[in-house]
Amino acid sequence: VPAIELENVVKEYVSHGEVVRAVKGVSLAIAEGEFFSLLGPSGCGKTTTMRMIAGFEEPTSGVVRLHGADVTNVPPNKRDVNMVFQSYALFPHMTVWENVAFGLKRKKVPADEIKRRVGEMLEIVHLQGRERRRPQELSGGQQQRVALARALVNRPRALLLDEPLGALDLKLRQHMQIELKRIQREVGITFVYVTHDQSEALTMSDRIAVMREGVVEQLADPREIYERPANEFVAGFIGTSNVLKGTIQQVTGGTAVLALSPVDRILVPVDGTASAGDAITMTVRPEKIMISTEQPEGDLSVVRGTVSEVVYLGTYNSYTVALADGAEVTVFQQNAHDSSVTAERGDTVWLSWQPRHSYV
Ligand code: ADP
Ligand code: MG
Repeated sequence: VPAIELENVVKEYVSHGEVVRAVKGVSLAIAEGEFFSLLGPSGCGKTTTMRMIAGFEEPTSGVVRLHGADVTNVPPNKRDVNMVFQSYALFPHMTVWENVAFGLKRKKVPADEIKRRVGEMLEIVHLQGRERRRPQELSGGQQQRVALARALVNRPRALLLDEPLGALDLKLRQHMQIELKRIQREVGITFVYVTHDQSEALTMSDRIAVMREGVVEQLADPREIYERPANEFVAGFIGTSNVLKGTIQQVTGGTAVLALSPVDRILVPVDGTASAGDAITMTVRPEKIMISTEQPEGDLSVVRGTVSEVVYLGTYNSYTVALADGAEVTVFQQNAHDSSVTAERGDTVWLSWQPRHSYV
């Protein structure tokens, strides 16, 4: 039985007499113990989806199930989930210890059990020794850990986190990403994580649902999402991607040849339904492309272009290359070897990549 299940969930708001369709029929199932992310640009319906799982928002239609039980109309306090917000909402006048113990005290849990569970939880979030501090005496990252401990100490079966690291600076955010993943592994409960940051979702998640305008565009593990984006939107939203369009010239043994110009030749793996004359949109990641000043040999996709920009980025260079048909291709090249080409703006270069790195 999935920990969390949404079946054709729709949410419409009425705002100033107009209907806003925030979520347009989302169906998904999240497994027990999974680290699951909802990823998408601002306004795509992530928070609304999360609030329907938590029970703060009732769906206009559709069904929400937790561990197999229909909770569509069950209030939040009767659901076995907890939510952590971006604004940590800690009690400022209480110490760290009191903040974490608050929920257990209210539930009249025996004092010695509270002591044990709060102690255990502070250890998991690495806040031992800071029990007596107040929130304002802690860094942003530490406050985030208190909020996490306070939610986890109740032992919910699922924890919902809505952009919980949004207020932290980049370095701390990256550190907390790894921490969150560790904590999730240690407590072993289902995490549903909302973010608009693709690298964050890729780092932490077992699976990701990529959303756009109230719809799930792709649901898969990070590798699949990165290497096999379902459409142009996903390809463009996750990392940097090159999208090329062309017409199939011929198909031989599962490989289609696209020709952009007489010197260019793109090889694309295709299924049996593809045939000459078909229009194709394909993607290739910048780090899969090799750049050279001489025409490469072998069974590679090869295109020629003119370097329009070079950006030095420390561990790698980013080249922008304009092709004959006006399309622009981004290429990342590691600065690992002395032999790396040093193409400059205005140079004519050859770009090549393995056919399997073209994805239709
Ligand atoms: P996200 O979390 O992905 O940024 P939201 O779920 O907050 O997106 O919002 C999705 C859409 O629903 C947006 O267009 C937003 O303006 C709208 N919306 C969200 N909450 C309300 C509300 N209470 N009333 C009216 N419109 C809302
Ligand atoms: Mg939001």
